[in-house]
Amino acid sequence: MAQRTLSEKLALLSDAAKYDASCASSGGEKRDSRDGKGVGSSGGSGICHAYTPDGRCISLLKILMTNFCIFDCVYCVNRVSSKVERARFSVEEVVRLTMEFYRRNYIEGLFLSSGIIRSSDDTMADMVRIAKTLREVEHFRGYIHLKTIPDASQDLIDEAGKYADRLSINIELPTERGLNELAPEKSSRGIRRAMGAVRLKREESREVTHTGKRRARFAPAGQSTQMIVGADGADDRAVLGQSANLYANYGLSRVYYSAFSPIPDASRMLPLVKPPLMREHRLYQADWLLRFYGFDVGEIAGGGMLDLDIDPKTAWALAHREAFPVDINRAPREVLLRVPGFGVRTVDRVLAARRRGAVRYEHLLAMGAILKKARPFITMPGWSPRGLDAVDLRARFAPPPEQLSLF
Ligand code: SF4
Repeated sequence: MAQRTLSEKLALLSDAAKYDASCASSGGEKRDSRDGKGVGSSGGSGICHAYTPDGRCISLLKILMTNFCIFDCVYCVNRVSSKVERARFSVEEVVRLTMEFYRRNYIEGLFLSSGIIRSSDDTMADMVRIAKTLREVEHFRGYIHLKTIPDASQDLIDEAGKYADRLSINIELPTERGLNELAPEKSSRGIRRAMGAVRLKREESREVTHTGKRRARFAPAGQSTQMIVGADGADDRAVLGQSANLYANYGLSRVYYSAFSPIPDASRMLPLVKPPLMREHRLYQADWLLRFYGFDVGEIAGGGMLDLDIDPKTAWALAHREAFPVDINRAPREVLLRVPGFGVRTVDRVLAARRRGAVRYEHLLAMGAILKKARPFITMPGWSPRGLDAVDLRARFAPPPEQLSLF
């Protein structure tokens, strides 16, 4: 294999990392100024954005250590049978790149994932060496997110958590059946075992010792996972059911949904319908409702699939008009949270304002409520909703139908 330069490897291995959904800018439009027109570039450098637990948006160097892989997961561009160009960074190269980008203020952290080379333990050991060298030799204080290989030994995962801010272990697919069919070398039990071990270690690290000392930190920004949506036949109810289970049992801080895109050269690709990115978007909205708005999976995805035209909270409200209108000045918090157009912050502002006097329409505007959505579902002094029973109420929220191109 021809020797590649560091920048060639960077181009290849940052591009290969774009399929990971854990960074907010993944998949963005590519623009550059190499034609001499304009300034800057949005792609190819391997820098993505992510949010820290305290809500800050940070830039990360997002790369794979290698896109060689001995596994053959059908949905993955890096699987062993895929005919893509391959490259591999050494441990020292990743450390050097991270430090150079960090010193130049390009990044505030590293997001590192990898294909599996030789064995899960060998690969994980290299990733841990990168994080350890950054922390202990380079005294790197930036953010580190490591993708963990689930069947790596417990000692390596424990070490990874010592150096990384966040660990993630991919659940990969919404159902065990899907995993068996599309990633037969992976085991659902192994993935869950690793997630459970990370949860335990995190809990342990938060306890003080019997002498009152704090324990060593372990993945303080939590653990997350990624689920590929649309590669198997699982519907949204199954996807969200899996997420609810993961949040409850493994204390995950986040489930990322990655819409499956058919990969060129996929000789073994299943004849699947490409899920629109809108499905991914609706799943994120529904996931939010599960975590912060008191909904359960059956309420928002009882029919199997989410409505692609309307956000899941509005879809629920339209299907449960008997629960509305909600009296803004009397309804309890959990009922206010179900009003379309009301976010958690708006609801908390309403509750605080109610202690000072009656909340009126103009107050809601100032509180950030999306009244275009909320209007038909609320009542308050000076405002009575109209048309809650109207047959065309759904049409007011859904985008107008589009004429598909015939050519
Ligand atoms: S193990 Fe990871 S990198 Fe390798 S084929 Fe499967 S998903 Fe792709």
